[in-house]
Amino acid sequence: MLDIQNLQVSAGDKEIVKGLSLLVKPGEIHAIMGPNGSGKSTLSSTLMGHPKYKVTHGKVRFEGKDLLKMNPAERAVAGLFLAFQYPKEIPGVNLVSFLRAAYNAVNKARKKSFKPMPLYNFKKLLKEKMDLVGLGHGFMNRATNEGFSGGEKKKAEILQMALLEPKLAILDETDSGLDIDALRTICGAIKEVKKSKQSLLMVTHYERMLKYLKPDHIHIMMDGKIVMSGGKELAAHLEKEGYDYVRRKLAEKNPLKVIK
Ligand code: ADP
Ligand code: MG
Repeated sequence: MLDIQNLQVSAGDKEIVKGLSLLVKPGEIHAIMGPNGSGKSTLSSTLMGHPKYKVTHGKVRFEGKDLLKMNPAERAVAGLFLAFQYPKEIPGVNLVSFLRAAYNAVNKARKKSFKPMPLYNFKKLLKEKMDLVGLGHGFMNRATNEGFSGGEKKKAEILQMALLEPKLAILDETDSGLDIDALRTICGAIKEVKKSKQSLLMVTHYERMLKYLKPDHIHIMMDGKIVMSGGKELAAHLEKEGYDYVRRKLAEKNPLKVIK
């Protein structure tokens, strides 16, 4: 589904992603973990087509197509979705208008015969999905993300995912800013929303989220590269020792190279 080969990304003069390869197959859940500043959000934004990030090398294929040639709207239509680490507030645009515009635009572009959904019907659909993610119906009339708590913003992101039904959803630290109950609700919602062929690429810091969502693969990103991949045993080591576990293992393999 997603095939990243030797990706290198810069912002301004700074090289951030330094040769990253990753293969995500349909239905798989991949988790990316790594210290702050290792380039996880840069990778996520680059995949979605953020203009701030410049791909200087490498290839990205999404369902066989050259992803890097598409603009962000085309990527969304093709089935890519990004839940932001820091969702933006959009004053003056209420949540229901925002989501209906996105829903109608994406579906219209995906299917010629699609007729834009009238507000009444859309509200019904929206309420179902809001129940799924545990967001009160009242939120639909509030300005998008404005004054939402951290957890409510993250729920609104998953709500958007539930509506847009992407083939691959990138979740950038959806767990941060959530209390334990909200985390359980959101992970339950992601599981509920996730179709069997849908893939997830989730960036996370915490083993808690891995316990709920049980990724097939866990990757450790440091200094712009995936330096280690494994299964759930890797998460257990990290929980115990932190990223020193990874540094120690890498040092054992290659004593001359020190990764910060
Ligand atoms: P992570 O999500 O893993 O914490 P980020 O991708 O947010 O890491 O950032 C990686 C590094 O790139 C950080 O040092 C950050 O300051 C830097 N960076 C991110 N975006 C930009 C930018 N637009 N211009 C310059 N540096 C940036
Ligand atoms: Mg980040």
